[in-house]
Amino acid sequence: MSTILIAEDEERIALFVDKGLRAAGFTTIVASTGPDALAAAQGGGFDLVLLDIGLPGMDGFEVLRRLRATDAGVPVIMLTARSGLDDTVAGLEGGANDYIPKPFRFDELLARVRLRLREAGQQAATTLNRDGLELDLRTRRATVGDRVVDLSAREFALAEEFLRHADQVLSREQLLSRVWGFDFDPGSNVVDVYVRYLRTKLGADRIETVRGMGYRLR
Ligand code: CA
Repeated sequence: MSTILIAEDEERIALFVDKGLRAAGFTTIVASTGPDALAAAQGGGFDLVLLDIGLPGMDGFEVLRRLRATDAGVPVIMLTARSGLDDTVAGLEGGANDYIPKPFRFDELLARVRLRLREAGQQAATTLNRDGLELDLRTRRATVGDRVVDLSAREFALAEEFLRHADQVLSREQLLSRVWGFDFDPGSNVVDVYVRYLRTKLGADRIETVRGMGYRLR
């Protein structure tokens, strides 16, 4: 079951949300100041954060900004009494996933919480796997077995293309246009160069040369 951090200084609202979410089966923690909310959120273990904007000590925007510097993933829903459009825009640009103006009905909040958790769950599942090679498309991290492999953005994109089309022969032209995004340049050997980089980093026999046709991920 999901754990939700409720950062809200108005006791009446915190209690109301806390009680409702617990009744809906969630585990909850309440923080009533900005610094407490940030410390709790950075401590991790939460599947979602409900973040009031008007918090003592540090406002919700600042909490969000600092949280996003270390955790891009956790869904954050901003709560606020201010119903100005500026706040919504600032919150969403600051990395909030959603925004609920006060006063709100509990069932409305619950629906948003469930929606954001569902989306986050789908994103978290966004990995490609093949023979011990794994690409996490959300964090852009590559691992071979337990080892993290440092790939450049272009190398990652090329590896992703191979994993999405495992066992298919991909021509240099296809790889050029999909990964580099430019039209076929018959003189370019950039694909061969990057395949060599990937072989060095991911294992020499992972990408097979199909003579006269291109490359294939085994
Ligand atoms: Ca408040």
